Amino acid sequence: MKRRLALLGATGSIGRSCLEVLRHHPDRFELVALGALGSRPDELLAVVREFRPRFVAVADPAAGERLRADLPAGTELATGGGALVLAAVHPDVDLVVAAVVGAAGLAPVHAALAAGRRVALANKEALVVAGGLLTTLAAASGATLLPIDSEHVALHQALRAGRPEEVARLVLTASGGPFLHRDPATFGDIRREEALRHPTWTMGAKITIDSATLVNKGLELIEAHWLFGFAADSIGVLVHPQSIVHSFVEWRDGSWVAQLSANDMVFPIQYALAWPERWANEFPRLDPAALARLEFLPLDDAKFPAVSLARQALAAGDSAPAAFNAANEVAVAAFLDGRIRFPDILDTIRAVLDAHAPVPLGSLEAALDQDAEARRAAAARIASLPRPR
Ligand code: NAD
Ligand code: MG
Repeated sequence: MKRRLALLGATGSIGRSCLEVLRHHPDRFELVALGALGSRPDELLAVVREFRPRFVAVADPAAGERLRADLPAGTELATGGGALVLAAVHPDVDLVVAAVVGAAGLAPVHAALAAGRRVALANKEALVVAGGLLTTLAAASGATLLPIDSEHVALHQALRAGRPEEVARLVLTASGGPFLHRDPATFGDIRREEALRHPTWTMGAKITIDSATLVNKGLELIEAHWLFGFAADSIGVLVHPQSIVHSFVEWRDGSWVAQLSANDMVFPIQYALAWPERWANEFPRLDPAALARLEFLPLDDAKFPAVSLARQALAAGDSAPAAFNAANEVAVAAFLDGRIRFPDILDTIRAVLDAHAPVPLGSLEAALDQDAEARRAAAARIASLPRPR
């Protein structure tokens, strides 16, 4: 039977890679619903014309209304804040691909899990904001949560080599980003364009900045904790600039099991969409010549404190990871906007986290409240910082 999909974040980097996987396997998928912000209307329309989904959700109401007249007859359109939730719980959908960026993706992921849908999750921020809430919800509804993030797909595969109690440690690999070898004394001079130039992956702007600050690895540590149920001190990080080994599991007998593939998101996406099956494909393979020089080095916590800050947030518990995430989102937007310097991103996160009093997140509303609260705190901190010259 065909897998019936809702693709949320269809116009983004992950959205485009997901559509590539769908094109590669036309007999295996039906794209029932799609969702996006609406900031790239032409791209969105092209996807609608190619895949003919029954349901289109556009979060920006004005952008959605502008699109209405151009949609093929019979396409149902929902616009505004709740539109992506409707796509996520569409009755004809059994698999939701969550590829929205940021906490904006939380409500649709929450709704999909509550409805017992299978969710393939690229939107790691949703799990960082409300991991306890979402995993409890999935357990109660019988929903399956599968990662799309390459490191977590690697761990998902490596974990199949044994039982959870036999695991010593999960080891997330990190490219180290464009500033791995840059003198931290010059971090204040980093320009937007430099930070947007990732050495190994082409991705959306937000996650590209997160990779430069290593906040992405902090988010991924929290994501791994919730996906696989291991404590933070059983999850390590190893810098691996080539991004060929996507992560390791270290077993208690001293064996390490790794997963490798070419660095193209079509591989982890297909794994998540095919699971529990594994399908043949013709995507360009890993070139064995690339294995000749694989480097691994420890993470320099003093130079890149983001992972230790994420550990601190996870240890504080409750809403602290939501505050970590919200502060980062606001700070990254400010950096991309030229309002703060590169080191101010981490400064903002630290300031918000230090002032944050964690509260339990028992509902979606509580999670969204804490997210909003931390965004206000981050904006206030940023307003107090000197503007870059
Ligand atoms: P992107 O910026 O390229 O795309 C984001 C998508 O989300 C777009 O389709 C946009 O329309 C939609 N969107 C943005 N704000 C929205 C809102 N408020 N409401 C509804 N839709 C909204 O981002 P991306 O690089 O594709 O990343 C998406 C997610 O996947 C992020 O959580 C990121 O961390 C994760 N991820 C990305 C990659 C990658 O290779 N790009 C790898 C691993 C994980
Ligand atoms: Mg990743």
